[in-house]
Amino acid sequence: MADKFDVIVIGAGPGGYVAAIRAAQLGLKTACVEKWIGKEGNVVHGGTCLNVGCIPSKALLEASHKFVEAKHDFDDMGIEAGDVTMDVKKMMARKDKIVKNLTGGISGLFKANGVTAIEGTGKVVSGKQVEVTALDGNTTTYDAENIVVAAGSVPVEIPPTPLTEGLIVDSTGALEFQETPKRLGVIGAGVIGLELGSVWSRLGSEVTVLEAMDSFLPMVDTAIAKETQKLLKKQGLDIKLGARVTGSEAKGEEVVVKYTDSNGEQEMTFDKLIVCVGRRPYTKGVIADGVSVELDERGFIFVDDQCRTNVPGVYAIGDCVRGPMLAHKASEEGIMVADIIAGHKAEMNYDTIPNVIYTFPEVAWVGMTEQDAKAKGIEVKTGSFPFAASGRAMANNATEGSAKIIADAETDRILGMHIVGQHAGEMIAQGVIAMEFGSSAEDLALTCYAHPTMSEAVHEAALAVEGHAIHMANRKKRK
Ligand SMILES: Cc1cc2nc3c(=O)[nH]c(=O)nc-3n(C[C@H](O)[C@H](O)[C@H](O)COP(=O)(O)OP(=O)(O)OC[C@H]3O[C@@H](n4cnc5c(N)ncnc54)[C@H](O)[C@@H]3O)c2cc1C
Repeated sequence: MADKFDVIVIGAGPGGYVAAIRAAQLGLKTACVEKWIGKEGNVVHGGTCLNVGCIPSKALLEASHKFVEAKHDFDDMGIEAGDVTMDVKKMMARKDKIVKNLTGGISGLFKANGVTAIEGTGKVVSGKQVEVTALDGNTTTYDAENIVVAAGSVPVEIPPTPLTEGLIVDSTGALEFQETPKRLGVIGAGVIGLELGSVWSRLGSEVTVLEAMDSFLPMVDTAIAKETQKLLKKQGLDIKLGARVTGSEAKGEEVVVKYTDSNGEQEMTFDKLIVCVGRRPYTKGVIADGVSVELDERGFIFVDDQCRTNVPGVYAIGDCVRGPMLAHKASEEGIMVADIIAGHKAEMNYDTIPNVIYTFPEVAWVGMTEQDAKAKGIEVKTGSFPFAASGRAMANNATEGSAKIIADAETDRILGMHIVGQHAGEMIAQGVIAMEFGSSAEDLALTCYAHPTMSEAVHEAALAVEGHAIHMANRKKRK
């Protein structure tokens, strides 16, 4: 008879491994099942985020940004770097080393916290049982008082551009190029498409991004989205909106992509094509036939606000349930669910989940856009501040972008913060904390910020809500 657990988690991505560690910390006998086979042929923890997502993409974004700085910006600062070149294979090896360190680190954390790591494919076979098929095909059934499904997501494929080894790839393939493609096509101007397009554009690819929608980054405040589009265009990303891909043909080392736009049928030829049109839940087979856990038609597991499925004792978190597909959202859900299982009160504030696009400059936001608020009939007041007026931004050679705060016109409560600028991903934590504590724009305006910092732009934007920014001419009348 196999071991019996208080909690079995299926999937060791940022949702699952965090849930498992928290559950074990709270004294629950916990196991985590994982099937991901890493580059060295063994099972690795960390899921999409650590293996082929957040971490490897950021390793490439950082390296490619440093390359651009050394090539184009150092001279301005008086640094003579000579002829700067990029060794793509070395950049990739560094990325792989970071991934290996981190995934190995999760295994270490499991041991340190007493989480039992089970290798294989898990399946919920009843409300209190998980069957695991090991790599050798043997199956074992484990009893569990509680089950947490954290099976994650996989890239969406589209019929016009079937993946073709080394030529038409998804985001995972785009993290493995061993040389810089001359002409690179990216389908999808979402977060992942813009990040991966930026990496290769910085390294010298001519990048064309084909986006079916007519609007650019519709989830970001329009003013910030427009500024971002302009900045990325200036960097050389050719972003074609309203371009719907209809077909592709691999011709030797090239791929011809057909798309339609407002001018009719178009065609472009690329050396590589990255398909970044979104991700879908990876839930096929994770719930056995006959177990009544409900899934929607797209495969997302139905859960309530506290990630409970319709079957008592079975929870689901992260990318395989509703909400934004983000690592930190998955992790927070993991903590909430572990706390609930341990008998604590726990809930999550879905209104204050931050989003970041790690382009240069970064784009980060939390809460509503000005347009969202208006569409909901909320009267708002806003304050913006450009980094061009920030002393620290000038010193950093990073004067592009701006910070914007959206506040309720009546209560002054902060409804949203949207930033495009260097370190926007770090700065947005201020908006998250402010909103979490129900702060007003005045609360931020009355806060003492260190000088000189990029964060002062947030302070100035808060002051600008009432037309009181100090380091720029205010458009509004002062009271
Ligand atoms: C290129 C890229 C860049 C990204 N960048 C960011 C970023 O900067 N910030 C951010 O917040 N998010 C980012 N994301 C998204 C982020 O990776 C996901 O939101 C996050 O990994 C979701 O976590 P999860 O635990 O729900 O699922 P996953 O990380 O997908 O993990 C699920 C795990 O479950 C395992 N599994 C599935 N089924 C079974 C089964 N039956 N048995 C055993 N194991 C199973 C899988 O093998 C996997 O390891 C990025 C994604 C990509 C692709």
